[in-house]
Amino acid sequence: MAEPAPELMETIVNLCKRRGFVFPSSEIYGGFRSTYDYGPLGVLLLRNVKDAWWRSMVQLREDVVGIDAAILSSPKVWEASGHLANFTDPLVDCRSCKERWRADHIEGTCPNCGSTDLTEAREFNMMFQTFVGPVQETTNVAYFRPETAQGMFVNFMNVLNTSRKKPPFGIAQTGKSFRNEITPGNFVFRTREFEQMELEFFVPPADADRWFGYWTTERMNWYLDLGIPADWLRLRAHESEELSHYSSATSDVEFRYPWGWGELEGIANRGDFDLSAHAAASGERIEYFDQATNERYVPHVIEPAAGATRAMMAFLLAAYDTDVVNDETRTVLRLDPRLAPYKVAVLPLSKKDTLTPTAREVLSLVQPHWMVDYDETQAIGRRYRRQDEIGTPLCVTVDFDTLEDKAVTIRDRDTLAQVRVPIDELVDTLRSRLGF
Ligand code: ATP
Repeated sequence: MAEPAPELMETIVNLCKRRGFVFPSSEIYGGFRSTYDYGPLGVLLLRNVKDAWWRSMVQLREDVVGIDAAILSSPKVWEASGHLANFTDPLVDCRSCKERWRADHIEGTCPNCGSTDLTEAREFNMMFQTFVGPVQETTNVAYFRPETAQGMFVNFMNVLNTSRKKPPFGIAQTGKSFRNEITPGNFVFRTREFEQMELEFFVPPADADRWFGYWTTERMNWYLDLGIPADWLRLRAHESEELSHYSSATSDVEFRYPWGWGELEGIANRGDFDLSAHAAASGERIEYFDQATNERYVPHVIEPAAGATRAMMAFLLAAYDTDVVNDETRTVLRLDPRLAPYKVAVLPLSKKDTLTPTAREVLSLVQPHWMVDYDETQAIGRRYRRQDEIGTPLCVTVDFDTLEDKAVTIRDRDTLAQVRVPIDELVDTLRSRLGF
């Protein structure tokens, strides 16, 4: 596929706003600092991204279980994990225009005014703080989690003791994370509140390298399978000086954003850093006893850490297309049917009382199986364009012949081909066309 056009980002932001995928938060009050609300279509798309991840990472595997940990936890978690001391970004101020920047994102020059008169970088901790209970004092400080991963580490023994799993096995979680980013931006690429999809996969230490390779391949394939073109995706191994102190290897899955290559997901070999740190800080035994070999060991961890909101944006960017149909340019989101907000739209040819009861019958046949849109106003051509623009793979049209032949027309978003099928066979036909 060709390089993304530079204006693609703006096109997607506009489409998201216009069609109800993503709205700027608190818009009636002028917005609120790179925060976004997910509208009727965005909530479906984001959920489908998370469901596709969960299906591949949990449902279709015997060796992964899920959890849903609290967003707030004991501050001791963040002390032991190193976040209190190290989860910082280097912050610089421009002395000229007073803007603040992440020192590693600019090259000594203020992107706002071009001044090179910048303060020395100081470390800024990105965790959001709050107070638990009515008294605002330091003993009551708690932190909003900046990643979901720690929930898996602190629950390792709970899961090990209750799930009948043993290494190699994983714990998966999706959910909100919060980082007080110095420079959020590029729409939902970098926000202060976002959603993550993380797996912590615990393995015997000797097998860690092999599992690291396995998970990098697996994760690349997940994006490819859901429709990201191969030449918009690449794997980039971190240089040794780029690695976190605890990681022996990290590879990023990178996506070709309209502004250039950037991270979509990171896969890290974290060794025994996290489990050992929590064992030392809590005084608890956190390890696995292998009865077969009579060995005790602290498993090593392979972590594929993805952003759900960032991935949703990548899927939108990759799906956006235009073509010409009947001399008219149409916009079409070529989303994989598994990700598309609506799988099917039921469209009576006209809003005549004679058609409505049959169209509603068709709707009620299809609705229990998939998310379905129903739209009966405006010319049929315009309604097809609306569905194309939000990525609905199949439209079902109920027309006046339907009243006689008890059949409807299925129209395909991508090929535009139309086929007539008996209503009796509609659900089965849709299922075979969608693949689920
Ligand atoms: P970056 O270098 O872009 O700040 P990171 O390496 O700190 O990201 P990780 O801690 O590895 O990111 O988080 C895993 C994933 O979570 C990222 O690959 C990304 O998809 C997502 N993510 C991280 N920070 C944000 C954010 N501020 N907004 C949206 N998604 C994010």
